[in-house]
Amino acid sequence: MHASTNPLLNFSDLPLFDTITPANIAPALDVLLASAEKALETVTATDYPANWIQIASVLDVSVEQLSRAWGAVNHLHSVADSPELRAAYTEALPRVTAFYTRMGSDEQLYAKYKAIPPASLNAEQKRAHTLAVRNFVLSGAELTGAPKERFAAIQERMADVSQKFSENVLDATDQWSLLVTAEELAGVPADILEMTKANADKAGLQGHQISLKMPCYLPIMQFAHSSALREKLYRAYATRASDKTQDNTPCIQEILALRHEEAQLLGYANYAEVSLATKMAQSPTEVMTFLRDLAKRARPYAEKDMAELREFAAKQLNLKDPQAWDWTYIGEKLKEARYAFSEQEVKMYFTAPKVLAGLFKIVETLFEVSIRKDTAPVWHEGVEFFRIERAGVLVGQFYLDPGARSGKRGGAWMDDVRARWLRPDNQQLQTPVAHLVCNFAEGAGGKPPLLTHDDVITLFHECGHGLHHMLTQINERDVSGISGVEWDAVELPSQFMENFCWEWSVLRHMTAHVDTGEPLPRELFDKMLAAKNFQSGLQTLRQIEFSLFDMRLHCEGEKAQNFMQILQEVRDEVSVLQPPAWSRTPHTFSHIFAGGYAAGYYSYKWAEVLSADAYAAFEETAAPDGSPNIETGRKYRETILEAGGSRTAMESFKAFRGREPQLDALLRHQGMN
Ligand code: ZN
Repeated sequence: MHASTNPLLNFSDLPLFDTITPANIAPALDVLLASAEKALETVTATDYPANWIQIASVLDVSVEQLSRAWGAVNHLHSVADSPELRAAYTEALPRVTAFYTRMGSDEQLYAKYKAIPPASLNAEQKRAHTLAVRNFVLSGAELTGAPKERFAAIQERMADVSQKFSENVLDATDQWSLLVTAEELAGVPADILEMTKANADKAGLQGHQISLKMPCYLPIMQFAHSSALREKLYRAYATRASDKTQDNTPCIQEILALRHEEAQLLGYANYAEVSLATKMAQSPTEVMTFLRDLAKRARPYAEKDMAELREFAAKQLNLKDPQAWDWTYIGEKLKEARYAFSEQEVKMYFTAPKVLAGLFKIVETLFEVSIRKDTAPVWHEGVEFFRIERAGVLVGQFYLDPGARSGKRGGAWMDDVRARWLRPDNQQLQTPVAHLVCNFAEGAGGKPPLLTHDDVITLFHECGHGLHHMLTQINERDVSGISGVEWDAVELPSQFMENFCWEWSVLRHMTAHVDTGEPLPRELFDKMLAAKNFQSGLQTLRQIEFSLFDMRLHCEGEKAQNFMQILQEVRDEVSVLQPPAWSRTPHTFSHIFAGGYAAGYYSYKWAEVLSADAYAAFEETAAPDGSPNIETGRKYRETILEAGGSRTAMESFKAFRGREPQLDALLRHQGMN
């Protein structure tokens, strides 16, 4: 196929989403991978100048084309999948991954970067250069000989053991089932009864077949009146992947040992330090101090939460001595008794067009831009395209794909189509483009789509990521927008936006009942707010328990082999509710043993503190009617959003707040003050 006819090789402006076919993928990659390989060869030649712009104008320009084309394929695979596309994607994926892995550990390229004279770099380039060199070092570029071989062997082995860990979790979850009667399931919602009945039918059995999968496990723990049934289910769930057939104990021990060895090869004391090398938090001690401070502040509220549960259980449910498998049930009943409101009723007030208009209004006012509808080639008729302008000048563009449909992956996300970049090849400023993808239900009966309040929060969240990507004023691609932002700070702008969904002055203007046009009643909003903070003390301590356990595991080397002992010590230190001694939570802790969260689980709470504290600046400066202050918006935009990854997240935060982050705003937002 000739290059000019392959839409994946057209880089004149936006991706040609309406004409890309699975048959375009392999031929486009042939061209792009060959070009990227050649560019890598060119810039790593001995006589090629060690000059940032000269390397970028050949290598980065070529690799950016590859990543934009692959980004389009990856996007279509996520939002408009078909068997043909999946096959072409699966076939192409290893080729693309192999190139990036090779480039990321290319010794000549590393040497070339190291040879660039620092004085030749501007501030943005200096930051991008520092991050590039750091990434090389963390992938073992400084190692030679036997240590280098061992480093590679560790990576390979780690991938296998993590995979085994995941498989054990999956198998242990999937293989368990229990046949019960409808009587035993008393209290459980009708859709779960239907589902479990269908499962039994499928297996040719009478009754209801229950499982450990979340959509079955959780509603039973919440609603089943039978404590005996909940106990059976809880025991099975809490001991997954810990018996003879699928015991994750050796996997956990080996993963921890491999990580510790890797850290020492790289010259670090422990793996937590390796993990934090790419994060905003400076040291394991800083993280643990943060967690312990938060635990101390949350503890009285967690104790109050527990006391309320105990009292309610004794008085209303006649449960004098609640067990581990009773708490979820008691919590649900207490929540119902206190804050009963119908999600269905709330939904009636959030019509998609009204919510979107409300969101755009906030963004336009706060960040001094205008958002206008625009056109671009799209992959589905439900997709909209917008441009963001300031004083008539294009700042960025985005696609919004709101609806759920078949062939589209679940969940919501922001992805970049291209980044802001002062292109080294033609000196043109490339404007950023983003995808905002959600999975909202379609409207029914000629009415607009109705969003749950969670949907609204999700939309604001992804829009926050999008603004970080699109409002950046940084010209260096690797540190513009979200690129180069520390991993534990990247959720600041997204969670920041969520706050507006809990702001009465904002919410009442973006609600209109689908039939009557009435705004959300204040009384309903107050119930939603109270339910939001329900048991926040207990939940906070639970997150801290996981985070502290994760951090200690990756700090304590040999000692961490006895991981159940460390978990017990952590629980003795921070928990107000001890699970039974036979429970085996670590054996299914996939975030840290099979995901990217090792010595990073704390970042959930860390980012919440950052975003709550940043939002507090708006609360402190709001007008009496609650409307946000434009000056504060401008400062936030300039110091956080526009700066992107061009400096450390702590520098950006301090530029905005004039001080380091504090815990108070988060605790207050969650009702702990
Ligand atoms: Zn996010």
